[in-house]
Amino acid sequence: MVSDIHANLEALESCLAAAPAHDRIVNLGDVVGYGANPNEAVNESRRLNGVLVRGNHDKACSGVMSLEDFNPVAALAALWTREILTPENLTWLRELPQGPVPLQDVEEVQCVHGSPLDEDEYLLVIHDAIEPLLKAAKPLTFFGHTHVQGGFAIRKSRHETLRPTYPSKNGADESTLSLDKGGHYLINPGSIGQPRDGDWRAAFALFDSEKCEVTFLRVPYDLKAAQKRILEAGLPERLATRLAEGR
Ligand code: ZN
Repeated sequence: MVSDIHANLEALESCLAAAPAHDRIVNLGDVVGYGANPNEAVNESRRLNGVLVRGNHDKACSGVMSLEDFNPVAALAALWTREILTPENLTWLRELPQGPVPLQDVEEVQCVHGSPLDEDEYLLVIHDAIEPLLKAAKPLTFFGHTHVQGGFAIRKSRHETLRPTYPSKNGADESTLSLDKGGHYLINPGSIGQPRDGDWRAAFALFDSEKCEVTFLRVPYDLKAAQKRILEAGLPERLATRLAEGR
């Protein structure tokens, strides 16, 4: 499960190199926007194929959606991205499917960018998540958009926020969550290219449908190289500095 790559090639490559054995890749959207390597991020996503869902930046950068709701920094990055994307990659982004997208062969799972009820909605706190948890068509939804690894659950009639904990923010780490039968889950693998949960390391997750387990992973990457590319591209400086903060 990968999400919010945001054109950060260094982070994407480190995650792919560190990824445990898997059958397929599920990409929850925002392949581009913010980072300096949109074509490379799209090319790699096309090569990986798997299950794909469109994100709001994919829509904005390819002209499917206006930049009206974007803050000035995000809008500048989207305009830069639109300019640099090849016609073929622009077309690929425009044709990405809207969530929810079912996961073939795994009956109970669906994939979205924002919320199961609205592809552009942010599920930041448990209050945002209750209604989608109860109304989602499937008991397990993988989502992205917030760039925060973890998610939300209702199990044994209690609601809770799920956040993996790690001993440090230095090396590679993982944290496994067992899913209860009968529970309702919204699970966010975190953001590959621009984490916002206070941890700079690239985030993704592995879903084991047989064991009913999600393993959250964090992987260090060449942060300085990604920052340098953002500055050299003439993108807003904030997009480089925030990567180090994980904000
Ligand atoms: Zn995003």
